[in-house]
Amino acid sequence: MKPVHFHIEAQDGEARAGVLTTRRGQIETPVFMPVGTAGTVKGIRFEELESADLDARIILGNTYHLWLRPGIDVIRSAGGLHRFIGWDRALLTDSGGFQVWSLGALRKITEEGTEFRSHVDGSLKFLSPEVSMEVQAALGSDIVMAFDECAPGKAGHEETERSMNLTTRWTKRSKDAFDRLQSEDADTGRREVEGLSGRQALFGIVQGASHLDLRRRSLEQTVEIGFDGYAIGGLSVGEEKSVMFDVIDDVAPRMPKDKPRYLMGVGTPEDLVEAVARGIDMFDCVLPTRNGRTGQAFTSRGKLNIKNAQWTNDSRPLDESCRCSVCRRHSRAYVRHLYMSGEMLAGILLTHHNLAFFLDTMRGVRQSIRSGDFPKFRREFTGRLDANGE
Ligand SMILES: [Zn+2]
Repeated sequence: MKPVHFHIEAQDGEARAGVLTTRRGQIETPVFMPVGTAGTVKGIRFEELESADLDARIILGNTYHLWLRPGIDVIRSAGGLHRFIGWDRALLTDSGGFQVWSLGALRKITEEGTEFRSHVDGSLKFLSPEVSMEVQAALGSDIVMAFDECAPGKAGHEETERSMNLTTRWTKRSKDAFDRLQSEDADTGRREVEGLSGRQALFGIVQGASHLDLRRRSLEQTVEIGFDGYAIGGLSVGEEKSVMFDVIDDVAPRMPKDKPRYLMGVGTPEDLVEAVARGIDMFDCVLPTRNGRTGQAFTSRGKLNIKNAQWTNDSRPLDESCRCSVCRRHSRAYVRHLYMSGEMLAGILLTHHNLAFFLDTMRGVRQSIRSGDFPKFRREFTGRLDANGE
């Protein structure tokens, strides 16, 4: 039996609408996954994530952050990440590879893995495919990501090829370690599920920066190892946006059709819609939560900076087309007042609205694919954003 089932129910061009069944419930795709870095989607309670307003079916946890603090012993003794944080829906954990890569000069990469200094206490740490798989088994997430290495967005061919080949070797080691841990029952999140194995699922990651020949080779090698789903990593890391879409254009249609396709760490609402048009099913990004905390609202008419004086007496909601509980109750003037006063509720309200906007956008995307109206949805969505965006 498989750890996840993926079924495509409608297709419009390259865009796909489907259902991903995990051991913790069904997820309609294309899906946006809010990022819960340290065991919390910052600024929002789990009740709100589950509410009809948002109805997030899957969220992310970060292996790197949770491994350093509180550490896997604490999470293991709590019975896994789901129990520790009080979330019973699906969880995906990243491998920690990207976070460590982001440390830049503070880390040292060898064939064996990556050595770096903890940002928590300065101690020397070592992350490898085997350690990442062990941590993710202890977390008990429903979808585990293979441990990869990311080349800089503008890396040359030679550097990218070296990095991609290392990723392939790490991917193979990830799979071997993952299989061993599953057979040893190391997965703390295991549960009985009808029709599913109850085990964790493992996704492989395609690298290769902007070089299409390397991307294709990376995809072939990753598919050969064999995974429950496939991700495109190493995008939105400093390359031009047109380069990102060239890569997705080329890689997504070549990815296995019967497996979910996940674009990691991307992006704005318009990026999501454009990537869906190219065949992507899953997304995660910190934008709605991070930008919410710094006073930015994503709306159907573009971004809105709540700090601007023009909203001082504006009685309209953040987004007049949004039906979220924040937009039903509060004005721009009030949210601006909270923000300018340094009130924590400002970030909470903006985060809620932003997540509602991202999740609602994906709901619209799914409906339009199912009804065969996706090109119209895409055109109108993008047209509105351009009309009034800041
Ligand atoms: Zn709203």
